Amino acid sequence: MNSAKKEKVVVIGGGVAGLTAGIYALLSGFEAEIYEKNAIPGGECIGWNRKGFHIDNCIHWLTGTKKGTELYEVWKKVGALSDDTQYAPIDAFFSSSYNGQSVTLWNDLKRTEKELIEISPEDEAEIKKFIEYVEYSKQCIFPAGKPMEMWGIKDYIQMGASMKDFPKVMKEFGNISLEDYSKRFKSPLLQRMICDYLPKEYCAYSFLVSYATMADGNGGVPMGASLQMSLRMEKRFKELGGVICYNKGASRIVIEGKKATGVEFEDGSFANADYVIPTVDTHVLFNRLISKDYMPKELKVAYDEPKKYPSISGFQVAYAVSKDFRAEGETTFIEIEPLTVGKRTFTRMYVKTYGYDPVCVNGDRQVIQTCISQDDEDFGFWKDLSSEEYTKVKDALVCEVTKRIEKEFPQLKENMEFLDAWTPLTYERYCNAYHGSYMSFVTTPYGKQMKLKGQLKGIENLYLAGQWTNSPGGLPVAVASGKFAIQRLLKKQHRDINI
Ligand SMILES: Cc1cc2nc3c(=O)[nH]c(=O)nc-3n(C[C@H](O)[C@H](O)[C@H](O)COP(=O)(O)OP(=O)(O)OC[C@H]3O[C@@H](n4cnc5c(N)ncnc54)[C@H](O)[C@@H]3O)c2cc1C
Repeated sequence: MNSAKKEKVVVIGGGVAGLTAGIYALLSGFEAEIYEKNAIPGGECIGWNRKGFHIDNCIHWLTGTKKGTELYEVWKKVGALSDDTQYAPIDAFFSSSYNGQSVTLWNDLKRTEKELIEISPEDEAEIKKFIEYVEYSKQCIFPAGKPMEMWGIKDYIQMGASMKDFPKVMKEFGNISLEDYSKRFKSPLLQRMICDYLPKEYCAYSFLVSYATMADGNGGVPMGASLQMSLRMEKRFKELGGVICYNKGASRIVIEGKKATGVEFEDGSFANADYVIPTVDTHVLFNRLISKDYMPKELKVAYDEPKKYPSISGFQVAYAVSKDFRAEGETTFIEIEPLTVGKRTFTRMYVKTYGYDPVCVNGDRQVIQTCISQDDEDFGFWKDLSSEEYTKVKDALVCEVTKRIEKEFPQLKENMEFLDAWTPLTYERYCNAYHGSYMSFVTTPYGKQMKLKGQLKGIENLYLAGQWTNSPGGLPVAVASGKFAIQRLLKKQHRDINI
C-alpha cells in the first residue's frame, strides 16, 4: 500500500474468526475495527461465572496445539497460544460405561487396543482395524497456510506425501455414519462407545480424526479455560492498534453497486469501510445483513435439506460437586433411564469433570457438566414453548438429569449444587446461532462438505469468514477462516499472502 491513509477493514463479530481477521488485517497494514453484538469477545468460545464458579463452555480439545503444525503457528500469531502455554493433564479422549463395564479411549493407542480387546475379545479384528485407522488419521493435519484455491502443485504433492495413508480412512469411513459403523462391533459397550461422543449421523471418519488429534498430542486443552483464550486474542488485537466495539449489533451491510461501503448498526449508527468481513452465522448474514440473492447455491441446498445437513446444539447443565469426585475419566458416558429432551429420547449422557483447571475450582469444589445433544427438530420444540413453559421444562429436566447422575454416582447424592442450565435457545440469543448450533453443519454421508469460496458473486470487497464457511466448523475452521479472508484480500491487491 502506498497511500498515507490506511484502508479500513470492518469485521462483524468478535468471536475467534473475527478476532483473527482483525489481527491479520492489522499485521497486513490495514486499519481494523471489530463490531460485536455482545459485551465481551469470544462468541461461542467463552465461559461465565455462577455462584462463585466458572463454567467453561467451549474447548474440549483444541486442534493445533502441536508445535510445528501450520495451525499452531496461527494460534500463536493471534495470541491464543504461546510456547509456554500449559495444557490440562488429560490422558484420554473419553470413557464409556455400560452394564457395569467401562472402556477408555486413551491417548496411548496401544493401551486402548489392549484394553478394548480384553473387554471384547470377539471384536479383536474390528478393534485392531479401528486402532490402525486412527493411527492413519493422525496424518490428517488441518492445513492453515493459505486457502486451498491458492495452492499450487507443490502444495498438493506435499500434502499427498504427508497424508499417504489417509485416503484409506476416507475410503473405509468416509461414507458410513457412526451408527452404521457401530454395528460392526459385537459388544454392546463398544457399540455405544462409537456413538457416544459425536452425533450418530456424523460420518465415521470425523470420529477417527477427532480421536487421532487427541492421540497425536495435537488436541490439548489450554489451562485457564476458553474465555481466557478469547481474551488473549482480544489483547493481541488491541495491542496491534485495533478498535473493538461491544454491544454493537450490525443490522445491515450497505452495498452500493458492487461495493460494500459500510455497516449499519441496530442503534442507528454507521461505520464506513473499505473492506467488510462478516464472521457471523451465514443464516444471519443472508437473512438480515445482506440480500438472500447473494447466498451461494450450496448453502441454499444445505438450509433446504436439514436431514442431509443437520445442525447440532445441546441441553446443558452445570453443577458444583466435591473436588475429589472423578468418574471413569474426565469425560465419562453413562447409560441412563430414558430421558426425553426436545423431541427425542436419550439413553446415554456424559459427565465431564473440570477439576483439572483451577479456574473451575472453588475451595474444595469443582464444576461438572453434562450436555445432551439437540438437533434441528429439538430446536423447534424449544422454540415453540412460551417463556413460562420454557422455564418449566428446563427446571423439570434439570431434576431428571440430577436424578440420573445421582443414580450412577451415589456418592454425589446431597452433594450436587445446581449452577446453571442452558439450551439451544441460549446459543441463538447469545450468538445469533442458527438453530442454536455452535458448530457448522454436521458432515453426514448424505451431504457434501460445505466449503464456501470466501467471496460472493456481485460484491467485490466483502470477504467471508467464520465457522460456517467450512463444515463441520469448530475452532480450527474459525481461526483459519479469519486468516484466509485477509489472504484473499491481499491476493486481490497483488500483495504477498505469506502472513
Ligand atoms: C459447548 C461448546 C463446545 C465446543 N467445543 C469445541 C471444541 O472442543 N473444539 C472446537 O474446535 N470447537 C468447539 N466448539 C465450537 C467453537 O466454539 C466454535 O466453532 C467457534 O468458537 C466459532 O467461532 P466463530 O468466530 O466462527 O463464530 P462465533 O463464535 O459464533 O462468533 C460470531 C460472533 O458474531 C457475533 N454476532 C452475531 N450476530 C451479530 C451481529 N448482527 N452484529 C455483531 N455481532 C454479531 C456473535 O455474538 C459472535 O460473537 C464448541 C462450542 C460450544 C458452544
